[in-house]
Amino acid sequence: MGVTGESTKNAARPYRPVRAGTRWNPARVLAVTVLTAACATGQGAGSAGSGPPGGTGSLAAPVAHAAPAARPSPSPSPSPPPGTGSPASGAPSRQASAPSAQPTASAQAPASAQPTASAQAPTVRPRTPAAQGSPDCRRVMCVALTFDDGPGRHTGTLLRHLAEYRARATFYVVGRNVAEHPGAVRRMVEAGHEIGNHTWSHPDLTRLPAAAIRTQLARTDRAVEKAAGVTPATVRPPYGAHDAAVRRRIGRPVVLWSVDTEDWRHRDRSAVARRAVRAVDPGDVILFHDIHPTTVKAIPQVLKRLSARGYRFVTVTELFGGKPPRLAYRGPRRDRRAG
Ligand SMILES: [Zn+2]
Repeated sequence: MGVTGESTKNAARPYRPVRAGTRWNPARVLAVTVLTAACATGQGAGSAGSGPPGGTGSLAAPVAHAAPAARPSPSPSPSPPPGTGSPASGAPSRQASAPSAQPTASAQAPASAQPTASAQAPTVRPRTPAAQGSPDCRRVMCVALTFDDGPGRHTGTLLRHLAEYRARATFYVVGRNVAEHPGAVRRMVEAGHEIGNHTWSHPDLTRLPAAAIRTQLARTDRAVEKAAGVTPATVRPPYGAHDAAVRRRIGRPVVLWSVDTEDWRHRDRSAVARRAVRAVDPGDVILFHDIHPTTVKAIPQVLKRLSARGYRFVTVTELFGGKPPRLAYRGPRRDRRAG
């Protein structure tokens, strides 16, 4: 993958406002592909028991967002589209090549979700986008950072980085990791982030019977509700694997991604930041995994560079004006550019 001029092609491309509802038109949306084995390393996340030291994520220095005026980066680089290395086939997406089946230490979910102060009926005050005055993504440049497979040991650090930029993100959490790190989930919600459901144990849902799919989702919902008092509104199936039956059983918006950092493969903070930043357009959904320390270390660079270009960091729901479509993602970048 060419890693030339990362800050890039925006120069050649004028800013186009995102129309959350319409920009993801069916032609693009249905041209499914699936990027790489994105969530492949899901399960390893929570295995290192000790929860992150409390990231209070609050008092960080406010960094003003760059004015969201359309401001293409001055960088020239007409570099070729960043092939995500994904074959553009239109079939049900599935990434068989799950690398690194890592032995998860936490084979069985520790039922010992430590009763943080909020064991039941937590007094979390989820700040709704409306209440917080979320940006109008039809008028300003928005991007949604999404973090899968956590929470894990590094999530607290990530929350601090996000707070420094007043960035909101969406966390597609694995239920059994929520049970291990309920405090992290509570802090996410308190900071205005969105929680999505990424199943309980990260299976390929296309291989499960209907009842098992429901259990995977319901158990995760309950863990999130117990930890943070909210119910995930959207689902991201592990590996991006879904088909019509899975989507029907999910019964909620299925949110994939349009920029794959492949951070599970590139355990290098510079590479992750470069891949995240170089190809971003307004309206993109970027995929990360907060279980990798290299990813968390890359995030300050990502936030810095994208905010310098005028991007606002919003949750998935905010990106879609409060109402994500039933299936949200884009086909390969090449298709998008061509179309
Ligand atoms: Zn995953």
